[in-house]
Amino acid sequence: MSNPLKVAFSNHSRQWRSYRYCYPVVSRRSRGLSLGVNLNPDTACNFDCIYCCVDRLTPPAVRTVDLAVLEEELRALARAALAGELYSEPEFREIPAEFRRINDIAFSGDGEPTASPEFRRAAEVAVRVRAELGLLDAKIITITDACFLKRPAVADTLAFLDGHRGEIWAKLDAGTQAYYELVNRPSHPLEHVLENILFAARIRPLVIQSIFMRIRGEAPPPAELDAYARRIEVLVAQGARLSLVQVYTIARRTAVDYVERLSADELESIAQRVRRAGVPAETYP
Ligand code: SF4
Repeated sequence: MSNPLKVAFSNHSRQWRSYRYCYPVVSRRSRGLSLGVNLNPDTACNFDCIYCCVDRLTPPAVRTVDLAVLEEELRALARAALAGELYSEPEFREIPAEFRRINDIAFSGDGEPTASPEFRRAAEVAVRVRAELGLLDAKIITITDACFLKRPAVADTLAFLDGHRGEIWAKLDAGTQAYYELVNRPSHPLEHVLENILFAARIRPLVIQSIFMRIRGEAPPPAELDAYARRIEVLVAQGARLSLVQVYTIARRTAVDYVERLSADELESIAQRVRRAGVPAETYP
């Protein structure tokens, strides 16, 4: 018999029925239901990660964000989860009781949420729906490539979300510029990302998300992992409050065909380096 959690965890589709922007995901990392909000139907992003699962070849059905529709979808999805109706849908039927709770509303989609001109107003929508439905335990998570965290309008929106259980999950997949370019194919240098993480993490605790994989058969070289752990150590020494580093590997379709998953032991050994740098780390093999 298939493992219902495994089936649920592997279902990370950002298309829910006929919805345009919102989608439900059962997440191991969230240990519950995450209501995803895609602010980037145009797939705009600062990175072009080799492990990205976003389909950038098929032209998107919509490119802009209609906030009224987004709000309607988020409210309907949250209500369906609260009423239990969501769990009679085929994808969610076998989810055990302990995962049947709304853990968060997450800005995470087909690109970089802070790049959206609607980020602020969408944050207000999330806060409104959360309050209206009494979801006061639910976090509002911004999953980000960290390139724009210092931008005044973005920083202001994140500060607004801080008052409503806001959390930032910022990507850091490398310790050297060369490896960062190999993995993230970015439009900003690594130093820029680190400066932005430091800026945001001095204001409130921040979660780092780091994905590692075998690239053309090669696991991340030890020197690269040393450089990565050193980046974490330096961020902390500079005053960054890092509440957790999530160390994980690829689980879905990827943009290129030359990447493979790391084993649970390989992830654990990376997590141990992070812990030695003074930050809690969890693995998601
Ligand atoms: S940051 Fe996320 S959306 Fe952007 S390319 Fe990387 S994996 Fe894809």
